[in-house]
Amino acid sequence: MGRGGLLGGDAVKHRVLIVGAGFGGLGVAHGLVGADVEITIVDQRNHHLFQPLLYQVGTASLATSEIAWPIRHLMRNRKEVTTLLGAVTGVDTGSRRVLLEDGGSATYDTLVLATGARHAYFGHDEWEQYAPGLKTLEDATSIRRRVLLALERAERETDPERLAALLTFVIVGGGPTGVELAGAIAELAHQNLPPEYRHIDTRQARVVLIEAGPRILPSFTEDLSGYAHAALQRLGVEIQLGQAVHDCSVQGVTYGDRTLAASVILWAAGVRASAAAVWAGLPCDNAGRAQVEADLTAPGHPEIFVVGDTATVNAWQGKPVPGIAPAAKQQGLHVARTIRLRLQGDTTPRKFRYRHSGNLATIGGRAAVIDFGWIKMRGWLAWWVWGLAHIYFLIGVRNRLAVALSWLWIYVSGTRHACLITQGEQLRGPS
Ligand SMILES: Cc1cc2nc3c(=O)[nH]c(=O)nc-3n(C[C@H](O)[C@H](O)[C@H](O)COP(=O)(O)OP(=O)(O)OC[C@H]3O[C@@H](n4cnc5c(N)ncnc54)[C@H](O)[C@@H]3O)c2cc1C
Repeated sequence: MGRGGLLGGDAVKHRVLIVGAGFGGLGVAHGLVGADVEITIVDQRNHHLFQPLLYQVGTASLATSEIAWPIRHLMRNRKEVTTLLGAVTGVDTGSRRVLLEDGGSATYDTLVLATGARHAYFGHDEWEQYAPGLKTLEDATSIRRRVLLALERAERETDPERLAALLTFVIVGGGPTGVELAGAIAELAHQNLPPEYRHIDTRQARVVLIEAGPRILPSFTEDLSGYAHAALQRLGVEIQLGQAVHDCSVQGVTYGDRTLAASVILWAAGVRASAAAVWAGLPCDNAGRAQVEADLTAPGHPEIFVVGDTATVNAWQGKPVPGIAPAAKQQGLHVARTIRLRLQGDTTPRKFRYRHSGNLATIGGRAAVIDFGWIKMRGWLAWWVWGLAHIYFLIGVRNRLAVALSWLWIYVSGTRHACLITQGEQLRGPS
């Protein structure tokens, strides 16, 4: 087993290398509190990100620092944890080291790959420049910039056709992220911003949600999905169902037999796993997720675990575990338990079993839908439960208070404090 072998007895501590400090990676680190191990966390960003509230940064409700935490700060009291900033590009399973983009490397006795997923364009990566997705803080501030710049340009536009395109916001994909973005942009344009513009009426903005399937929120029951559909329409969102997008360009979006001129197109239609399976030469599904054993180890490599969005395993009553934060967290904790048992000499593989606590999605207009299985909720009560749940899952008292205060402020005053256009890149829009 090398240094720090899992059967114990070695003088040197067992080295656990965690790649990715998302929900899965931090789950492992938290589960190993007090264990006799040396932990190294490598992430290509210096912060852990609470992705469920990312759309609120993209739509000017929250500031970036309210939903992200420096990993180094989170681990400040964990003397056994070393945090490294670096992008992993490969794994040498023979010498047990991960390779970093800058030519460096880090060694391990146990490796946990928890590098998540990114949006996917179904083979049309060229669409990304016109239709950005939402995954990182940079994505969120770039979306915010596009939305606000379109409105700034509209304020100075005199040509009616160009004005219409500048005031058209298209969201592709009717899952929770697409629904949240559509609802939040509609609220921003139709309710929050009208008093701030003099030459345009932002209430005229069109928000169009395009979904290829027969209904939005397909992971929810039909009645909740129907409720969300009607609630979005009340907010002024136009919903196009059964429409696959064929093209995204600087002019707009093409679906069915029509092209809709739009200056802002946002992509919320698909995900692709990180390249973790490729690095370690593991079998993967068609979304690039590593197919792991029931105990979350890589086939043929009991010393490598793959967790969260970058892995796939049928551990939810025989079905694949969903790509959501609680699933990644549970997998991380399971891996930590396994490592602890191995350190005690128990190497029996233990199956991971996912416990689903529910589906939540907010729609905007102070409404949400929730399906806990044993109870379904919708409307304003669901919205409060959604809000409280998200505040609870944020890290630290300061952020909980900051987010609660920001929401209360928007609730009471109807204004959003984060309408900042940052970063220099020019808006690409119809000219
Ligand atoms: C916009 C959005 C909204 C969402 N809303 C919800 C929601 O409401 N509820 C819910 O439960 N889930 C939601 N999810 C899904 C949830 O965020 C993911 O399932 C969860 O983050 C997966 O955790 P993870 O640890 O696998 O990956 P992540 O949390 O994505 O973490 C991966 C980490 O790996 C790092 N990394 C990636 N590649 C490398 C590399 N090459 N080298 C080094 N580091 C690397 C990344 O920087 C990141 O820190 C949402 C996701 C998105 C994008």
